[in-house]
Amino acid sequence: MTQPLLIPCPSCNGLNRIPADRLSDAPRCGRCKNSVLLNTPFELNASNFAAQIKGDLPLLVDVWASWCGPCQAFAPTFTQAAAQLSGRARLAKLDSEANQQLAGQLGIRSIPSLILYRQGSELARISGAMNMTQLLDWLKQQNI
Ligand SMILES: [Zn+2]
Repeated sequence: MTQPLLIPCPSCNGLNRIPADRLSDAPRCGRCKNSVLLNTPFELNASNFAAQIKGDLPLLVDVWASWCGPCQAFAPTFTQAAAQLSGRARLAKLDSEANQQLAGQLGIRSIPSLILYRQGSELARISGAMNMTQLLDWLKQQNI
């Protein structure tokens, strides 16, 4: 038996315990009954950031802004990646304009920036838009 994974719910921030072999069964949150694993990116902000970077399933954050052309160009790739990586990583978007203080705390210098978290710690980050192959290659280097 492997240990269940701790995964925060994207809707209510409640921490769920989910056995690894149930990740593909569309697990629901014990608290709010919404889906714990999404196949689209969800929104990060100052109020859910600390809760969402926790947990055993890596969280990949796309830091973006509406005025940023490369961010817009990268958005469909990131959305597609969320579906492709479901059960392996959780994907979220952080609007750096709406969350300037948080983006400042994270030391964001250029966007788009991708930051990978697990169990509350930053594992890796990279700046600049990528295509799907580059994104998956970079994640593979991080053992995702
Ligand atoms: Zn929930």
